[in-house]
Amino acid sequence: MSSGTPANKGTVRILQLYPRDMNIYGDWGNVLVLKQRLAWHGYEAVILEHNAGDTFPSDVDILIGGGGQDSGQVVIQQDLQSNAAHLRSLAGDGTPMLAICGLYQLFGNFFKTHDGTVIPGIGILDIETHGGSERLIGNVVARSEEFGDIHGYENHSGQTFLGPNVRPLATVTKGEGNNSKEDHEGARHLNIVASYLHGSLLPKNPAVADFLIREAVTRKYGSFEPGDVDDSLAELARRHAAARPR
Ligand code: GLN
Repeated sequence: MSSGTPANKGTVRILQLYPRDMNIYGDWGNVLVLKQRLAWHGYEAVILEHNAGDTFPSDVDILIGGGGQDSGQVVIQQDLQSNAAHLRSLAGDGTPMLAICGLYQLFGNFFKTHDGTVIPGIGILDIETHGGSERLIGNVVARSEEFGDIHGYENHSGQTFLGPNVRPLATVTKGEGNNSKEDHEGARHLNIVASYLHGSLLPKNPAVADFLIREAVTRKYGSFEPGDVDDSLAELARRHAAARPR
C-alpha cells in the first residue's frame, strides 16, 4: 500500500461549492476521500471553499458540491446564478465535477419545490426536478457500466427527470434514485457525475473518486499514473452497504 508515499507528482485544487449551506449526510467526506486518494496516487490536494458571496477562485481542478435542504438551495441560488456562466464554461472544458442531491438538482434547469417555488438551475445538466409530497429515503444500489455497483443513501422529495442531452449515471437495483417512476439514478454528462446518493458517496465508491482524479490529473499534467492503492476497507464498506436493508 502506498499510503506513506509522499505526494510529489503535482497538486490538484479541489473546490467545495457551498459547504456552509449545502453539506448534509456527510457530503464533506467526499472531499476527504479525494484528498486521501490523491495522496495515495502521489498528488497533493489543496482544498478550497466557495460560499455564497465569496469571490470564485480562478484556478480549480475538481468541483464538489453536496446536498441541502430546500431552504439552503434558496440561500445559494443567487450566488450560483452569478457564477453560472463560469461554471458552465468549466464544465464545457471538461473540469471534473461531483454534484450531490441538492446541488445536482440546481445543476439542472430548475427545481420546483413542493410549495410551487421555482429555484432556477444553471442548466449544466439537461434535467428538471419537481418537489413531491413523498420523500424517497433509504439505502440505494445502482448499477453503472462505467463504475460498477454504486452504493449510497438517498433522502429527497425532489423527483428528477432527465432530458435527451444527459444520460443516467446508473440503473437502480435497490431504492428509488432520480424519481419514483423510473429506475434511473443520477446523471452523467461531460466529466460531471451527479447523484442523489449521500453516505458520503466516495468512500464506498472509489471507482467514482478515481474517475474524478484521473480526469483532473490528465487535464492538468497530460497523463495519470495511478498509485498502488489498497481498497480492502472500501471493499468491506461496499459489502456492508450491499447487505443493508432498504
Ligand atoms: N431539498 C432537496 C429535496 O428534498 C434536496 C435534499 C437533499 O439534498 N438531500 O429534494
